[in-house]
Amino acid sequence: MINKNEQSIIEKAREQGIHLTNYSQGDYRVKCPECSQSRRKKHENCLSVTVASDSILWMCHHCDVIGLEGLKKVLASNVPTLQLP
Ligand SMILES: [Zn+2]
Repeated sequence: MINKNEQSIIEKAREQGIHLTNYSQGDYRVKCPECSQSRRKKHENCLSVTVASDSILWMCHHCDVIGLEGLKKVLASNVPTLQLP
């Protein structure tokens, strides 16, 4: 059962292009909103998505995009630092 807080986390993830067939807890592989469009392997599920009870974390194995919704403060230290150009 999804509570209101988790619903908003899912909504935020969707706004960033993370579309899963369901958002129950677990690990998923989907197409990347950043790079799949422009790749030759358009259908390769290069984005790894981890859904936890109160957060959604995703990371692309191709373009290294990283995203997180929920528990930002707690998980921030576990997420590799983004290298800005
Ligand atoms: Zn990507």
